[in-house]
Amino acid sequence: TPPERIRNFCIIAHIDHGKSTLADRMLQITGAVADRDMRAQYLDRMDIERERGITIKSQAVRMPWEQDGHAFALNMIDTPGHVDFTYEVSRSLAACEGAILLVDAAQGIEAQTLANLYLALENDLTIIPVLNKIDLPAADPERFAKELADLIGGSPDDVLRVSGKTGEGVEELLDRLVAEIPAPKGDADAPARAMIFDSVYDAYRGVVTYVRMIDGTLSPRERIQMMSTRATHDLLEIGVSSPEPVPSKGLGVGEVGYLITGVKDVRQSKVGDTVTGARTPATQALAGYVDPKPMVYSGLYPIDASDYPDLREALDKLKLSDASLAYEPETSVALGFGFRCGFLGLLHLEIITERLEREFGLDLITTAPSVIYEVTTETNETIVVTNPSEYPDGKINGVTEPIVKASILAPKDYVGTIMDLCQTRRGTLLGMDYLSEQRVELKYTMPLGEIVFDFFDQLKSRTQGYASLDYEPAGRQEADLVKVDILLQGDRVDAFSAIVHREKAYAYGTTMTERLRKLIPRQQFEVPIQAAIGARIIARENIRAIRKDVLAKCYGGDITRKRKLLEKQKEGKKRMKMVGRVEVPQNAFIAALSGD
Ligand code: GDP
Ligand code: MG
Repeated sequence: TPPERIRNFCIIAHIDHGKSTLADRMLQITGAVADRDMRAQYLDRMDIERERGITIKSQAVRMPWEQDGHAFALNMIDTPGHVDFTYEVSRSLAACEGAILLVDAAQGIEAQTLANLYLALENDLTIIPVLNKIDLPAADPERFAKELADLIGGSPDDVLRVSGKTGEGVEELLDRLVAEIPAPKGDADAPARAMIFDSVYDAYRGVVTYVRMIDGTLSPRERIQMMSTRATHDLLEIGVSSPEPVPSKGLGVGEVGYLITGVKDVRQSKVGDTVTGARTPATQALAGYVDPKPMVYSGLYPIDASDYPDLREALDKLKLSDASLAYEPETSVALGFGFRCGFLGLLHLEIITERLEREFGLDLITTAPSVIYEVTTETNETIVVTNPSEYPDGKINGVTEPIVKASILAPKDYVGTIMDLCQTRRGTLLGMDYLSEQRVELKYTMPLGEIVFDFFDQLKSRTQGYASLDYEPAGRQEADLVKVDILLQGDRVDAFSAIVHREKAYAYGTTMTERLRKLIPRQQFEVPIQAAIGARIIARENIRAIRKDVLAKCYGGDITRKRKLLEKQKEGKKRMKMVGRVEVPQNAFIAALSGD
C-alpha cells in the first residue's frame, strides 16, 4: 500500500472507557473480522486480559476502508492504558500519526485520559476527540463534549459521539480518521528503518515482533539487524495482522506489520529498538531506546518449598515474553528459598503473580512491595536496597527514596478527603486545576513508597471509586527513613522488616506485633514479640506459655479419636517454621504480610 493510502492511529482512553469494545466494532464494520468469527475483546489475547478486562500488551491490526472509491489501509495500534506500562504506550504512540481520544460519555475525563493525551501531544499526533457509550441512559454528551473541547481546543461540535456497543457513529469515525489523520511520510529509497513497538512471545512461532516502517522496505528472507545490539537475524516471515497474521511480500514506508526471526526471547527484540537491513544498514537509529526499569520489588516464595525449582522455571518462561520482569534468588529465614523480583509497578506485580499461580499452578507468598532505596553509609559508600532486610544496621549518612508526580482527578466534593490522604502519605501539593465546574485535578509530589502501600485502594474507597490516579517518576529525595525489625524471642524475622518514615515506625511496630500475637499459637514457653529500630525496642507483645497436651482432652477411652488427633498434630507440625525455638505456622506469615 502506498503511504498516501495508509492511516496509522491508536485509541487512547482511561481504563473501562470502552477502547477494546470500540476496536471490536471497527474490526466488524470494516469487515476485518467476519461476524461469525467475532468474539468480545478480539484483540485482548491473554486470558488475564479478558477476565480483568484490561489490555496489557498492545496489538496492531490492519483494517480495509474505502472512501471516494479509494482503498485505504487503517492500522490500529491498541495500547495498554495503565501507568505501569507507560513506556509501551509511548512506543505505540510513536508508531502513529493520529489518536482517537476516547472518553466515556457518562464519566468524563479521567487521570489516564490526560496522561495519555499528553503523551500523544508530545508525539505530535492529530487528536480526534470522541465520546463513547452514548447509548447509556446516564450519558451526558453535551456536558462532556464541552469538557473535552475546553481541554484540547476546538468546538464541542467537533467531538464525535459514538457507541462501541451498538456501533452508532463508528462509520463516521472511520471516515474522520481517513480525512483528518496525516498520511505517513518517509524515505522509500533510504536504508530500511523500522521501530519495534511490541514484542510478543508465542509458544509456536517464537518471538513475534511488531514494527512500524519509517524508511525503506524490508522483504521476506532478508537478514535484519537490531540497531541497539548489532545482532543480526534471518527473517523467517514478514506480514501484517488483519487481525490474523497474513504473510506479505514486504513492508514499505508507513506500513505496520510483524516480523518473525526464530528468536526465542523478547530480550533479543526489544520494544523501542530500530530494525534495519543487515546488508545496507542505516547509520542512525530512531529516537531513544530505553530499557524499562523495575520500580517496585517484592519477594516471591513458594508455599511448598519443593516447588522452588518450578518457580524458577516459571519465571524463566515468563521472562521470554516480558523483558521488564527482573528476578534473582534470595533466601529468607522465615520463608525459605525464593526470588526477589522487580516490577514496573503494582499492577505488573499482580499480573505476574496471578500468571504464576494460574498458568504454572504455583502457590506463592508475596512479601510487602518495596521501592529502591539508596543508602549512603558512614564511609560514604552508596548501597542500593530493594529488600528491607538488607538495609544496613549501623549508622548511616543518609538515604534517598524515589518520588513521583501524581495527578489525581475527582469530582470536587472529594477534594478534602483526597488532600487528607495525600497529607498522611507525605504528599506535597503542587497545584489544583478545575477541568470543569465539577471536576478537579490535584497535582502532588509523593514518595513512591507511600503509593505502593495500598494508596490506590484508599483513594478509591474514600471517593466511592470516583477518583483516578496517574503518576510518573520525578527523581529522588532525601528522607528520614528507618528500618523496623520484628523479633520473635529475640530473633529477627526478615520477611517482616520494613523501611518506613520515622514518624510511622511506631505505628508499623505496634500493628505487626499485635497481629503476630494473634496469629502465633502459644508455645511451651513465653514468647516476646518485639519491634525494634536497631537495638531500640519500640513495641512489645507477649505470647503466654502453655503446656499443650492434645491428649488430655480425650479422657483415655476412644483410641481412634486419639490417633486422629495425633495425626492432625503431626500434619500441623509439617507446615510449621522454626524461628529460633519458636514454632510459627506458615499461614501466620502469610496472614501477617497480607494484613488479613
Ligand atoms: P477498555 O478498558 O477501555 O478496553 O474498555 P472495554 O471495551 O473493556 O469496556 C469496558 C466496559 O464498558 C465493558 O463492560 C463494556 O461492555 C462497556 N462498554 C464499552 N463500550 C460501551 C458502549 O458504547 N456502551 C455501553 N453501554 N457499554 C459499553
Ligand atoms: Mg481494553
